[in-house]
Amino acid sequence: MKALQLIAHGEPGKFEVRELADPQPGPGEVVVEVKACGLNHLDLWTEEGALPIPIELPRTPGCEVAGTVLSAGPQVSGWKAGHRVAVQSNLFCGQCQYCKQGEESMCLNARMLGVQTDGGFAEKMVVPQGALAHLPDNLDFKISAALTLAGSTAMHMLTNRAQVRPGDWVLVMGGASGVASAAIQIAKALGARVISTGSTEVKRDLARRLGSEFVLDTKDPDWTSQVRKTTAKRGVDLVVEHVGGKIFEQLFSCLARGGTIVTCGATAGRDVALNLWPLFVKQQRIVGSYGRNSADLKASLEWASSGKLKPVIDRILPLEQTPEAFQLLRSRQVLGKIVIEP
Ligand SMILES: [Zn+2]
Repeated sequence: MKALQLIAHGEPGKFEVRELADPQPGPGEVVVEVKACGLNHLDLWTEEGALPIPIELPRTPGCEVAGTVLSAGPQVSGWKAGHRVAVQSNLFCGQCQYCKQGEESMCLNARMLGVQTDGGFAEKMVVPQGALAHLPDNLDFKISAALTLAGSTAMHMLTNRAQVRPGDWVLVMGGASGVASAAIQIAKALGARVISTGSTEVKRDLARRLGSEFVLDTKDPDWTSQVRKTTAKRGVDLVVEHVGGKIFEQLFSCLARGGTIVTCGATAGRDVALNLWPLFVKQQRIVGSYGRNSADLKASLEWASSGKLKPVIDRILPLEQTPEAFQLLRSRQVLGKIVIEP
């Protein structure tokens, strides 16, 4: 089988498409024929070696997979060749105290697909059976691959880690990204009013089309006061955040009393200065969100199947062009998702 392997870290890293032996399933594992795999910021961190965990090279990245089951190893139940599946990227153990409560995103023994095990930028891959979810019949592989990770991350943020209520004001940062474009749609469908941000007019236009009532440019020094003006000085109830860096520090001036910032990433920097005064005086919360539970993946596939959640696909590229896709994402030229078809 063909697989894209990361051979050396860097910006860009060194990649090669190689012919490898077909993966074999161990106990409790299945082999999936990859039909489509979305590209994510996590893949860039893998490429750059910018994660606080060791990564063995060579490694096949790719953590947002849709495909069909090819074969199942011993002790696999309920999955057989031909099943159409989405694969969740936080590979959980299914045994620890959190997994037993359905909080697989907190698994004590989790591994990241495409980071600590070989991922989906390949024709075939092997994963534990617990990582699979059935793909609804009417969902295309490419559609699924564009929201398996991004859509379910947003679902986890908005319905598990924070709960959006009808009438809430929700500020979704970087509205044209994969996670944010899903978050706008989910918040809107749950009855919230959405404000979003975007660094270019094209990105702001996309955020508007997805349902944002107001879209601001964070390069505008006045953007936080515009959020307050839009919400009649009250501020937003919830910020959906994945940017980090300096922008994170500005979020508190957009946040209402009792409001929550839910964050699932920090593409612009993980170290931020925090002024605790507004946090405790206004009784605000910062909530971390990591990955998704199986229930979030199932919910986002159901939402997509019923037309409530539509991924934004920038372009679809063949396996050989995956390194170019990494460059496009790094240079922030992507609207929604890039999907690779191995
Ligand atoms: Zn676990």
